[in-house]
Amino acid sequence: MKKMSISKRISVTMRGYSILKQYCPGLAQGKAVYELIHSIQPFLSVWFTARIINEISSQRRVKTVILYVLSVVLIHFICAVLKNIINQICNEKESQMWSWFGKVFSDKQMSLDFVDLENAAIQHQRQEAEENLYMFGNGLAQLFWGISALVRTFVNILASLLMTISLFVSKSGNKLIDHPVWILIVLICIILGGLSKSKATISENEVFMNFCKNTVWFNRVFMFFGKELYMNPEKAKDIRIYGQNIVAEKELDKLILHERKNQFDIFKMSLYPAAAQIIIGLANTVCYLFVAAKALFGAFGVGSIVQYVAVLSRLGEGLQELMYILSDNEVYCTHLQNLFAYLDLPNNMYQGSLTIEKRDDNEYYVEFRDVSFQYPDTDRYVLKHVNLKFKIGEKLAVVGMNGSGKTTFIKLMCRLYDPTEGEILLNGVNIQKYDYDEYMSIFSVVFQDFRLFSFSLGQNISASATYDSEKVTECLKKAGFDKRLESLPNDLETFLYKDFDTDGVEISGGEAQKLALARALYKDAPFIILDEPTAALDPLSEYEVYSKFNEIAGDKTAIYISHRLSSCRFCDKIAVFHAGEIIQTGTHDELLADNEGKYYQLWNAQAQYYIT
Ligand code: ADP
Repeated sequence: MKKMSISKRISVTMRGYSILKQYCPGLAQGKAVYELIHSIQPFLSVWFTARIINEISSQRRVKTVILYVLSVVLIHFICAVLKNIINQICNEKESQMWSWFGKVFSDKQMSLDFVDLENAAIQHQRQEAEENLYMFGNGLAQLFWGISALVRTFVNILASLLMTISLFVSKSGNKLIDHPVWILIVLICIILGGLSKSKATISENEVFMNFCKNTVWFNRVFMFFGKELYMNPEKAKDIRIYGQNIVAEKELDKLILHERKNQFDIFKMSLYPAAAQIIIGLANTVCYLFVAAKALFGAFGVGSIVQYVAVLSRLGEGLQELMYILSDNEVYCTHLQNLFAYLDLPNNMYQGSLTIEKRDDNEYYVEFRDVSFQYPDTDRYVLKHVNLKFKIGEKLAVVGMNGSGKTTFIKLMCRLYDPTEGEILLNGVNIQKYDYDEYMSIFSVVFQDFRLFSFSLGQNISASATYDSEKVTECLKKAGFDKRLESLPNDLETFLYKDFDTDGVEISGGEAQKLALARALYKDAPFIILDEPTAALDPLSEYEVYSKFNEIAGDKTAIYISHRLSSCRFCDKIAVFHAGEIIQTGTHDELLADNEGKYYQLWNAQAQYYIT
């Protein structure tokens, strides 16, 4: 893999921090302040200890010694209190960290173009980035976990350097010991120690990362077999009936065998750390001898030996950790880059910026102009040269056999997809030019496969956390749910289903439909579209629901979709779809008058199902 340049790594890391800041406010900062206090503390102890020993071994002023002791105790007490407070805050925030990271994904998924939700390559990219999240914290958690090491390292290096300056400045009177070349020798020893330790840690890490890479793949397969196949009730049915668990178990055995071969590289894991320990030992010996020799020749007191020995080893640790941080940064920058590649997927739908014109005369019209459409990654046109114009306030019916393209027509009108050819206009302007959210706000659609959620009834109807109770009740009444509402234990606060509340209610298919209709009414959008949410009903009941809804819809533009012609005969305009084309338009009576036409043919074919 190509190495990332330093400037790229800096920009990736900075963007990572800004996401942390946006989604987990205060978490990174809290951790940094905690670590700052925590890593300064040992230096304070060393400094005061050195002063106390120096005082005891020289002038022995009791007052000074007491002052040093009290100061160090007080400072540690203040640090402990501060750390405790910050820790409490950080723990609280850290416990929410994974949910916040999950939100990074759900926000992106929500803003993705609908078409991308069906795009296998994009969903695979999301899955990979999400898997990284749980395996490696997706770079974001690594970034957070790395904050302590980063602050500690900088404090270690900076404080150690400051506290070693006097080691080289103080003179012992011996030319050999006071020679400036010792600065170089001590620094080389420390750097050598640091480098060898970091090399050992990095190679250990590489082995671990290789192991993890296999594990990600293994986990994915295992999740499929273990969770998807056995625990998903939909699939478990078939697995049990057809005994497919035997095939699955054989495959799983093969995988476990394969996994056993991926053992850790023992050689790298043991040789490098051993070599590093020897180098560090030698380097430390040189440094300690130098400090001891300077003290011996009278450059400083015994207490300062404690200080220099302690800070030199801290400086060594700081350099080791710096190397490690740099290599770790490279690893999580790669993960962050994968995450950013997913987050940066363009939202093509969001390119438009026009606001929807507010017209007093309510004279809006929608026009399909020679629209043809292929679903992504397919080569079949499911809509061909569709031309249709209708005004706001009209009741339009879209009828035709199953698979003739009715739902696709609606999806295009609601901009879930863009046409492959041709254009759709609202008041003469291509709908792609409108602000996406504003355009979407003019539609209320009840799809055939509508979903209600395990929220409260009020939240389901209003599609929001807070709602206008009166309006919700009114919509439920219009949709014919009022009697059932009276029987609910907690009125509008009653939860649907039992996922979040054991008092939640189960609702029948017919009731769910009424709720979906009430939700469409609550949105109060100028366009209401019913895409066969009534398909499970018999033809007569569907007709009743549709004509009742027509009354409720009042002067809104309503579009009714059905493969049953009878359901829509009250509409002002009927468009007949066949194999992706509009083959006839007109009122029910006009269409029926054409006894050569498809509508006439379908009407007669379906006549047995209803009594007119
Ligand atoms: P209708 O609503 O009239 O039953 P649809 O608009 O749902 O018809 O479907 C029209 C055609 O488009 C069908 O042949 C269907 O198989 C195909 N189709 C629908 N959705 C997709 C999709 N997401 N990807 C590919 N083809 C699809």
